[in-house]
Amino acid sequence: MRSVTVLGATGSIGESAFDLLMRAGGPERFRTIALTGAANVARLAEMARALRAEIAVTALPEKLDDLRAALAGSGIEAAAGPQAVIEAASRPADWTLSAIIGAAGLPPGIAALRRGGTLALANKESLVTAGRLVTAEAARSGSRILPVDSEHSAIFQALGSDNLENVESVTITASGGAFRDWPIERLAGASVAEASSHPNWNMGQRITIDSASMFNKALEVIEAHELFGLEAERIRVLVHPQSIIHAFVTHRDGASMAHMGPPDMRHAIGYALNWPERVALPVPTLDLAAIGSLTFREPDESRWPALRLAREVILAGGAAGAVFNAAKEQALDDFIAGHIRFTDMAPAVERALALSSREAGFGETPDDLDEVLGWDRLARRHAACAAGAA
Ligand code: NDP
Ligand code: MG
Repeated sequence: MRSVTVLGATGSIGESAFDLLMRAGGPERFRTIALTGAANVARLAEMARALRAEIAVTALPEKLDDLRAALAGSGIEAAAGPQAVIEAASRPADWTLSAIIGAAGLPPGIAALRRGGTLALANKESLVTAGRLVTAEAARSGSRILPVDSEHSAIFQALGSDNLENVESVTITASGGAFRDWPIERLAGASVAEASSHPNWNMGQRITIDSASMFNKALEVIEAHELFGLEAERIRVLVHPQSIIHAFVTHRDGASMAHMGPPDMRHAIGYALNWPERVALPVPTLDLAAIGSLTFREPDESRWPALRLAREVILAGGAAGAVFNAAKEQALDDFIAGHIRFTDMAPAVERALALSSREAGFGETPDDLDEVLGWDRLARRHAACAAGAA
């Protein structure tokens, strides 16, 4: 029986994974090693009971008593705190889904890679902050990374067994998010509630706001760079309001292989769960005649400065990815808390990058996790100061 672990089980990706695991037979088909969450311990305990997990872990130490109470009588172990999440990720499992939100997903993701198996990677922040460490860890242990981010899963599938040397470019699409068609002048007044609604995808709040600002796409450009080893100029972004084509790979002979599917993350998660097989998934089949037309446009970088920053981050290399992600997380926190406007986020991140680039060692690739976390802390401070000045 295949053993599985889900990091971030109570989130939007985690819920989709849970749905797939249960539909595929739940505890009859999978031996669930660990499920982790944070605030939502009631749901975590429910999932752990349904899948008969060995251990359920909340990242929040103050939630341990609630988790224990919710698991009473089940025989399922309970633990709490960031270190307990890492320990759970280190328990042997054939397949681990990394679906914690933010840079908090990096240490447990690395722990899972270190002990081997397959890492289905939704947590794009791991690759953005520490791409080199993550891929080196996989190479060392022989673990396989399968992308779960829909665009990267699409590239992976469209590439098939083709050689990357024959690839001229990859193009990832973006719906354009909540403010795609807003006049630019209105963006400064955009509220958190307005930024939290997505035209096509149903996702967690943070990534939904990142879609409106295109910080999500910026992270994905860097993710594609780290995952597929492509230079910045070979990674393109197109706005595609229907979200049907998720990515396409353009070969040097002019042929482009596109991946199409309805905007439902259970496709990419299910693909990674069953790879290299393809099995029936609870995802609707595309009805292109009903959709009628697919449209595309170039992204306007004055509306979405995050895309320019992503290219600059790739060119800068070194610690730029860790700084970019952490500054973005801080700016997003500040926007959600009402401290800064929607349009203040990109300047705060740009300022944090500029300030961090003056520090010694910025241009060198971080050697270990501690170094990455050091840049992460510094960038959050710089971004918070920049936001204060905004
Ligand atoms: P959610 O915010 O919905 O869920 C995040 C999960 O992480 C929850 O289980 C949450 O627990 C847990 N969590 C939150 N903070 C911490 C922490 N400090 N330490 C450990 N666990 C924590 O996120 P999404 O599911 O939307 O996204 C997860 C990842 O997948 C992100 O990296 C995102 O970029 C990526 N992704 C998401 C897509 C989507 O469709 N949602 C699409 C492509 C990629 P709790 O809820 O119990 O507090
Ligand atoms: Mg994506």
